[in-house]
Amino acid sequence: MPSRGLENFLKENLEDLKSKGLYNEIDTLEGANGPIIKINGRELINLSSNNYLGLATDNRLIEACNEATKEYGVGAGAVRTINGTLKVHIELEEKLAKFKHTEAAIAYQSGFNCNMAAISAVMDKNDAILSDELNHASIIDGCRLSKAKIIRFNHADMDDLRAKAKEAAESGLYNKIMVITDGVFSMDGDIAKLPEIVEIAEEFDLITYVDDAHGSGVLGNGAGTVKHFGLSDKVDFQIGTLSKAIGVVGGYVAGKKDLIDWLKVRSRPFLFSTSLTPGAAAACIEAIDILSSSTELQEKLWENADYLKQGLKDIGFDIGNSETPITPVIIGDEVKTQAFSKRLNEEGVYAKSIVFPTVPRGTGRVRNMPTAAHTKEMLDQAITIYKKAGKELGII
Ligand code: PMP
Repeated sequence: MPSRGLENFLKENLEDLKSKGLYNEIDTLEGANGPIIKINGRELINLSSNNYLGLATDNRLIEACNEATKEYGVGAGAVRTINGTLKVHIELEEKLAKFKHTEAAIAYQSGFNCNMAAISAVMDKNDAILSDELNHASIIDGCRLSKAKIIRFNHADMDDLRAKAKEAAESGLYNKIMVITDGVFSMDGDIAKLPEIVEIAEEFDLITYVDDAHGSGVLGNGAGTVKHFGLSDKVDFQIGTLSKAIGVVGGYVAGKKDLIDWLKVRSRPFLFSTSLTPGAAAACIEAIDILSSSTELQEKLWENADYLKQGLKDIGFDIGNSETPITPVIIGDEVKTQAFSKRLNEEGVYAKSIVFPTVPRGTGRVRNMPTAAHTKEMLDQAITIYKKAGKELGII
């Protein structure tokens, strides 16, 4: 018999979410997560995945995964420190370090895990963390886990960051102070002001931490936001995910050798959770090899993103100020945003609505993620559908 306390808690809260229209019904994809997906037997143009370069379905990665699986098996068998470190894990970390222009790297089972691991391995209750208010949930949770004092600064507001860094540094209350930012912000597609952040960090002796989940593979010839600004030797922690542009699963920290050595002995998801599957690690290695040898996929991604942005702008949509392929179509009103996304779906475009509390009230948007795998025809068709649905709902 489940506890009545639990039963009541779940019933009340689920009903509350459903009554407010906030209960997220999750769609099931009947096949691969490519540029065209199938849901309930219907084919849709997929503008919702983070598979930026189309590598999630790339045959070269599939082959690498299959070969490693044959050689090592499907699972790594244990946590890394017991006997779960395989040659593919080491090879992946060496490739990641080279790719990120750092001394070393450490791989985790996911990007989320990585933020939980890395922040709490170096920060504690005697420290402070300056965190951009729009940082990803995994950063927020990683900060909380560390028990450090969390000081949020206004999004991308360098005056606010400077003032708060000064106050924290001069207070004498903290042993270490860290500044954390996303490299690319996933809801608006804007790029962190890293040159200014690094300058402020140097002035107040801050540890610098950049989560580049959406910048890696996309900016800086693929190496990410830090490389894009030429700051590879100025950022202490470069976080990345292997699940977006790389197309597989996993996360990593790239940085100085001492930092990585420390994470190997002190970060809990590394010490207490089974390592990446050998197949996933091998597929990631293949992806990095592809990205290191050619910029063709990035060029295609940017070409497609520019094409979609221009097309949506030309027909009158507000696409915000994204500096990356992330393309929000800003509607404003929450109910209208959800209705618009539903209408797009009925017409054949899969693009999700994003509303409060994920974004501030009144800034509801439908977020589009064009990829290198989309064809011009798919994008043209999507733009046509946007036009039809936008006119119907009085958005354009
Ligand atoms: N950090 C950021 C900035 C992200 O956008 C995401 C993914 N939504 C993550 C971390 C988590 O990455 P993963 O999906 O690999 O766990």
